Amino acid sequence: MKGLCILGATGSIGVSTLDVVSRHPDKYKVIALTANHNVDRLFAQCLEFLPNYAVMVDSEKAQQLRDKLANTAGSAIQVFSGTAALEHVATLEAVDSVMAAIVGAAGLLPTLAAASAGKTILLANKEALVMSGDIFMQAVQKSGALLLPIDSEHNAIFQCMPAAYTAGHPAKQARRILLTASGGPFRETPLEQLPHVTPEQAVAHPKWEMGRKISVDSATMMNKGLELIEACLLFSMSPDAIQVVIHKQSIIHSMVDYVDGSVLAQMGNPDMRTPIAHAMAYPERFESGVAPLDIFAVRQMDFEQADLNRFPCLALAYQAIRAGGIMPTILNAANEIAVAAFLERQIKFTDIAQVIEKTMQQFSPDAAHSLAIILAADEQARDVSHRVIADLTS
Ligand code: NAD
Ligand code: MG
Repeated sequence: MKGLCILGATGSIGVSTLDVVSRHPDKYKVIALTANHNVDRLFAQCLEFLPNYAVMVDSEKAQQLRDKLANTAGSAIQVFSGTAALEHVATLEAVDSVMAAIVGAAGLLPTLAAASAGKTILLANKEALVMSGDIFMQAVQKSGALLLPIDSEHNAIFQCMPAAYTAGHPAKQARRILLTASGGPFRETPLEQLPHVTPEQAVAHPKWEMGRKISVDSATMMNKGLELIEACLLFSMSPDAIQVVIHKQSIIHSMVDYVDGSVLAQMGNPDMRTPIAHAMAYPERFESGVAPLDIFAVRQMDFEQADLNRFPCLALAYQAIRAGGIMPTILNAANEIAVAAFLERQIKFTDIAQVIEKTMQQFSPDAAHSLAIILAADEQARDVSHRVIADLTS
């Protein structure tokens, strides 16, 4: 029986994780669940899974959760608030595995704390890895933590790696990664319409149901850009050895090309419970609740090059990882600010790439030797992005 902490339990990945947990009550005991401010959902999850601890980052919401839990089956659950509590529950003795499913930079410190404490890290929160890069990978190496990718593409690549492969090491006979992408909702939208697309259109992904931020990232293909950087780090590969492939059916979740010409692909229905169950059962397998793939219903699979003119965010991500140092941190921070501004209708969809590019131009790729340097770069990039947005909208 393994103890599980879910950082970001109320989000899309958190909910899918609990769905998998509910199928294997003999394998996993939920120790801690955390959320930002969705009291009603965390309350329902607490009653169903009876964790020992719950964290609501917002202190008022934490009090509401305590009040709701009093005199219920969950009255013994200890409720904490504040960001330090996230690190606390992610490093508890009783916790073996941590599902890192907070969205954005907010997930970095608790995920890094869990990595330093040698926990098994089920990594969905790609922004945490992208922004901290080598610092995160070094924390994993130093503590001996097991790092398992949840992002469907990276989980697919991991599954196509040689037996006993561990993240962070080069797979020597692998010469190329083919990173698949659905192309998002605007793959074929006429270019002149892109400045006018709405947040509602951007978050309506054709193949995956996800949180709002990653859905916008999929529409700009910054999601693939972040995943490119994530793949460089997880598989110790150069960006030149990673090719993005638009595969609109989202059945192949990525491929590894070996020196002998073999190309291994992992396939399945687009449902995050597959990579989640893979990582939770690793190195065994168990049932995920995902329907068997009906290959005859798929009938056809298409593969296309990504158009960098249509998706400038992807080009910016290649630029950031090639420059190295703090540039991926800057890219990620600028993207978070730009996406939030787009969702709040302050800027146009096509301004997202503009904001990121203009922000990156204000920085040089200084070495990212320490967490302090990364956190400072993240903060400065957010300030610059806000100023770029103010200029754009004035
Ligand atoms: P979501 O928006 O649905 O959920 C985010 C979760 O993080 C929620 O539980 C929320 O309470 C919590 N959270 C948000 N801000 C927080 C903060 N400041 N402090 C603490 N907690 C906070 O997002 P999601 O779609 O579940 O994505 C989560 C992560 O997984 C992202 O990094 C995303 O890129 C990655 N991911 C998601 C999918 C998917 O299918 N949804 C696939 C691959 C990777
Ligand atoms: Mg993905």
